[in-house]
Amino acid sequence: MRNWLWLTLVACALLAPGEPAQAARFISIGTGDINGVYYPVGGAICRLVNQNRKTHGLRCSVESTGGSVYNVRNVLSREIEFGFAQSDVQWRAWNGAAPFAAKETKLRSVFSLYGETAMLVVRKDAKIANATGIRGKRINLGNPGSGQRATADVVLNVLGLKEADLALAGRYHPVEQGDALRDGRIDGFFYVVGNPATGIRDLFNAMDATMLPLNGPGFERMTWDTKYYVKDDIPGGLYRGVPQPVKTFSVKATLVTSSEVEDEVVYNLVKAVFEDIEAFRKLHPALGLLKDRAMFEALTAPIHPGAQRYYEEKALR
Ligand code: GLU
Repeated sequence: MRNWLWLTLVACALLAPGEPAQAARFISIGTGDINGVYYPVGGAICRLVNQNRKTHGLRCSVESTGGSVYNVRNVLSREIEFGFAQSDVQWRAWNGAAPFAAKETKLRSVFSLYGETAMLVVRKDAKIANATGIRGKRINLGNPGSGQRATADVVLNVLGLKEADLALAGRYHPVEQGDALRDGRIDGFFYVVGNPATGIRDLFNAMDATMLPLNGPGFERMTWDTKYYVKDDIPGGLYRGVPQPVKTFSVKATLVTSSEVEDEVVYNLVKAVFEDIEAFRKLHPALGLLKDRAMFEALTAPIHPGAQRYYEEKALR
């Protein structure tokens, strides 16, 4: 008897009037490590998408991944529908620059979000006075799938250093690099992330570390020469022991997809975010300054037609 009651209730729920019989379409967003910013922001996007799943049929979930380079590769191989990518990595993929072997012509932009600052975090007792002082030290540059690793090569080049000039060029993931610094297995690490990042905040709360500026003529030239690097500061007072702003440069966190993903899917994801932009802004502090009209900055790959349709409907572009 009880079973019948349940079955009836379930059947009624499934056949409820007004709900179109949408087949579920599962989509996933490649992010980064769980203590970065991509992961919680990806969660925020999925939350907005899933809110309206009855009307569009999309079921969104996030995947923790190695970062930008991994995400671009896996979007292109259709393992995932969407992925976060630093704007410099997006540029590299579109133009076939290292670590990409050829021009990734199927890459498409969806929107850009917030600035990700380049950071050089070192142990206070490692006695590294400035960025060039990392010569001969053990520095984590990041796992090969990360955007941080791709940008680290550019930074080394500006500093006039090669990997071989370091005592160790670490390949730790962001979730491991904090522990490695705390345990003294490395003297510092390089990272590219939005602010505030949970992993960085926890680390500064747990130990005496500092951030070194990445500025000077070489970096000045680099920001002049490219449209994806801009001069920026890591705000003061966000992390314990870093009361003053730290001069550096930043990229934009962008969302990418493949030209093979259906227009309808991209349209509905974009719509979910833009229609609820106020709520979206409140879901992570890095999104606090987001303005809907600035969400096309630093994109290199063409905008996906599904996204473009929404932007034109709302006269945003
Ligand atoms: N920008 C980093 C990367 O692409 C990830 C930062 C994050 O997870 O928020 O590797």
